[in-house]
Amino acid sequence: MSIERITHLVGGSPWTGVSERTSKVYNPATGEATGELDLASAATVDEVVKVAHDASKAWGTISLTKRAQVLFAFRELLNARKEEIAALITAEHGKVLSDALGEVTRGLEVVEFACGIPHLLKGGFSENVSTNVDVYSIRQSLGVVAVISPFNFPAMVPLWFVPIAIACGNSVVIKPSEKDPSAVNAVAALWKEAGLPDGVMNVVHGDKEAVDRLLEHPDVKAVSFVGSTPIARYVYEAGTRNGKRVQALGGAKNHMVVLPDADLDLAADAAVNAGFGSAGERCMAISALVAVEPVADDLIAKIRERMGTLKTGDGTRGSDMGPLVTGPHRDKVVGYVEAGVEAGAELAVDGREGPFDGGDDGFWLGPTLFDKVTPDMSIYTDEIFGPVLSVLRVPSYDAALELVNSNPYGNGTAIFTNDGGAARRYQTEVEVGMVGVNVPIPVPMAYYSFGGWKNSLFGDTHAHGTEGVHFFTRGKVITSRWLDPSHGGLNLGFPTHD
Ligand code: NAD
Repeated sequence: MSIERITHLVGGSPWTGVSERTSKVYNPATGEATGELDLASAATVDEVVKVAHDASKAWGTISLTKRAQVLFAFRELLNARKEEIAALITAEHGKVLSDALGEVTRGLEVVEFACGIPHLLKGGFSENVSTNVDVYSIRQSLGVVAVISPFNFPAMVPLWFVPIAIACGNSVVIKPSEKDPSAVNAVAALWKEAGLPDGVMNVVHGDKEAVDRLLEHPDVKAVSFVGSTPIARYVYEAGTRNGKRVQALGGAKNHMVVLPDADLDLAADAAVNAGFGSAGERCMAISALVAVEPVADDLIAKIRERMGTLKTGDGTRGSDMGPLVTGPHRDKVVGYVEAGVEAGAELAVDGREGPFDGGDDGFWLGPTLFDKVTPDMSIYTDEIFGPVLSVLRVPSYDAALELVNSNPYGNGTAIFTNDGGAARRYQTEVEVGMVGVNVPIPVPMAYYSFGGWKNSLFGDTHAHGTEGVHFFTRGKVITSRWLDPSHGGLNLGFPTHD
């Protein structure tokens, strides 16, 4: 198989330089290297930021109508090409095609939200705050903003930020994950086709060196980061130290609490879907199932029955679940399975042996279920980010709540119950940013904002929705008086109004 060169997109065109460093991109279902990715040096990042900065001046002052026209055109193109983008995702990430298409569709919803930018950027106006004095507020673009994204949603996570940043009049430099970079390049080409001026949307590929330069560069005014907690914390600290606004979304350990009165068939379906969809490589995946006794035995029986029907294989072959993203990541997850056994958890379903409908060298691990997991085990304390579901048995609602609230992460959670009062109590008491009631993966719609609490988000602004518009603009308040001769005269006191 030929190996394709994958490079940066600068000012609307592929970068023509020679990269000192490259990394390999794999098809996880076959284990074959399919791409050679250019990794940017600090100097290349500077080159890209300069192009973005130059383009931001004109784009930041272009009319809202013209910006909205580009967004509508982009929406149509992305919708028309979503299958192509999904195929690129499956080829480099490994998730099954239907799931890849689902992530593009959720990203498309953010584009649709951003199409309403003329309405979203409306300011306030107060007439006659003092005699003949009016006050009004506007929101202006920042200039160049950077987006740094993770491997697990190579299209959707970039789409959480880029359409809103562009709609708000900024230029973007995005640094995608080096594991599956092609979807971002394909989407960037659609922006150009939609009529976005060259230089407003740029892609720079790379690793820590590129990220560090973006975090230092004086012309980068804001950073939207999504990835693991240690890197999110680092990006937040480095970016804010350099005077940038930063929203850094981190890792997760999402708990699904099942109360004794829940519909156990619904709960078992939800646990399997949310635990093993995308091979557990979702920041909203359920990895800890908290069974409030006496439901555990019945619930586990139903989950095992469903797991027995799942097909793990190549995402292009109608499988339910694909491989893990890379060989080292698969090995790390298998290491957690071994550690769980060692620590005394009960391995109810072992996904290590297969069968797998894919290449012999694919990065395979099947759905795995642990019972009788305790909070001190590494399969519970750590974010595994693989198809491993841990069941923790607790005696009461209060014990379940205590467990969830003691966890350092706070991204998503779900409660399964038929008791509306219990659900309402949970939504009030739980210290988590996104809560599902009989909904296992409560990802907010584009017009709400996405984000967790505690170690799942550093900064105070969540992604997309009106918080996204706020993040990518800064406010200005104008106090204006059109001269009335009666208001002349000296007065050195602090302005008050009458
Ligand atoms: P990661 O932290 O390894 O990488 C994320 C980005 O940071 C990539 O672009 C990567 O190139 C860059 N990076 C990696 N190491 C770096 C370093 N030392 N210095 C600077 N930059 C560095 O994350 P990942 O493995 O790509 O993605 C999976 C993680 O992302 C999981 O922890 C998952 O929970 C999290 N995630 C969170 C959300 C959310 O909304 N909270 C959404 C998706 C994924």
